[in-house]
Amino acid sequence: MVKNLKIMTENQLLKIAQDFGSPVYVYDAEKIEGQYKRLTNAFKDVKSLKINYAVKALSNISILKLLHSLGSGIDTVSIQEVQLGLTAGYKPEQIIFTPNGVSLDEIEKAAKLGVKINIDNLSILEQFGTKHPDIPVCIRINPHVMAGGNSNISVGHIDSKFGISIHQIPHILRIVENTKMTINGIHMHTGSDILDIEVFLYASEILFKTAKQFKNLDFIDFGSGFKVPYKAGDIETNIEELGKKLSKRFNDFCKEYGKELTLAFEPGKFLVSESGNFLVQVNAVKQTTSTVFAQIDSGFNHLIRPMFYGSHHDIINISNPRGKERFYTVVGYICETDTFGSNRRINEISEGDVLCFKNAGAYCFSMASNYNSRYRPAEVLWYKNQAYLIRKRETFDDITKNQVEVDFSSKKEKALVK
Ligand SMILES: *Cc1c(COP(=O)(O)O)cnc(C)c1O
Repeated sequence: MVKNLKIMTENQLLKIAQDFGSPVYVYDAEKIEGQYKRLTNAFKDVKSLKINYAVKALSNISILKLLHSLGSGIDTVSIQEVQLGLTAGYKPEQIIFTPNGVSLDEIEKAAKLGVKINIDNLSILEQFGTKHPDIPVCIRINPHVMAGGNSNISVGHIDSKFGISIHQIPHILRIVENTKMTINGIHMHTGSDILDIEVFLYASEILFKTAKQFKNLDFIDFGSGFKVPYKAGDIETNIEELGKKLSKRFNDFCKEYGKELTLAFEPGKFLVSESGNFLVQVNAVKQTTSTVFAQIDSGFNHLIRPMFYGSHHDIINISNPRGKERFYTVVGYICETDTFGSNRRINEISEGDVLCFKNAGAYCFSMASNYNSRYRPAEVLWYKNQAYLIRKRETFDDITKNQVEVDFSSKKEKALVK
């Protein structure tokens, strides 16, 4: 068993908010390491296991380096993420490129860098295979299994833009035969938030069935979608049970297939979500006729998940953790509806208090923007009882640096604007 983790204390978090200012994202390295070990431990019966961390969840280079040091590979969805991975020290063969809807040109660029290629479109597969029959590729299959917590993040269903339908396998085989290309991997990613292991295993059976039709495989990639608890009572994916069941099935399949294949996963949320704490300060407490608003020095420009997906993040008052509980609606400073949590029971809030959003590791900073011309927050990594700044807070230069000003006073420009 993985040893019990020390959770960062409220005082440690408060000190970071004081030292680095707010708003600030804080990631606990020990939690990331714990999750990585939990996953590899659950699949210890598989001879060749590869975890490819999904960079898009949290793409800070120091986080990538931390996961690299644990032995992880990475899953990337853009050529820029590939470049980030290389910058962080990953070898090209430790990187898989799993984009959706990108140009052939971008895929060729990634292939040139030597990373593993995953193709999810018949047209691109045919073009790539015709031009580069010697570069093996993985194919992303859509098993049409509906699994997921929210219709925005269920990508396995029939009308999804992701993957090549299992009903199109004959077409894939035709392309492979015609181009003489090699398929080295089969992949699926059915969507985030997999609650039901049986659903996952069912989709896996479809993948095994597909895999049998390709003779040169090195790996089968089961994607991700592991659910983590966002609030008390939430169900999380039972990794240990999944590990037991899928490992056995995978090992049996390898025997049948006649080759020891690699079992790959590409979790994002599972590895980093719970490591993250987002610290903000309360600008004002505003009482209306029916509601008490806590107005904070942040908005959906920094943490969009509640407004975008309706996601829940626990919010706690680390400045007054033992204060009397009251009900608050926590809102941001963006000039449109910007609600982080409605009617939340939180320890009494005074102006200036520091609030902490839990589970702020995945899809939080990585989805942040400069909307309302605000700076994106700083990021801090808590590693071996010490706080390391891993991204500086932006400054006014970051808002203006790519803007090109027109001089409206000159005659030439006057003529232009007329
Ligand atoms: C986003 C993504 C993942 C990671 O999903 P999580 O729910 O964060 O684990 C894995 N694979 C692919 C192809 C993705 O696009």
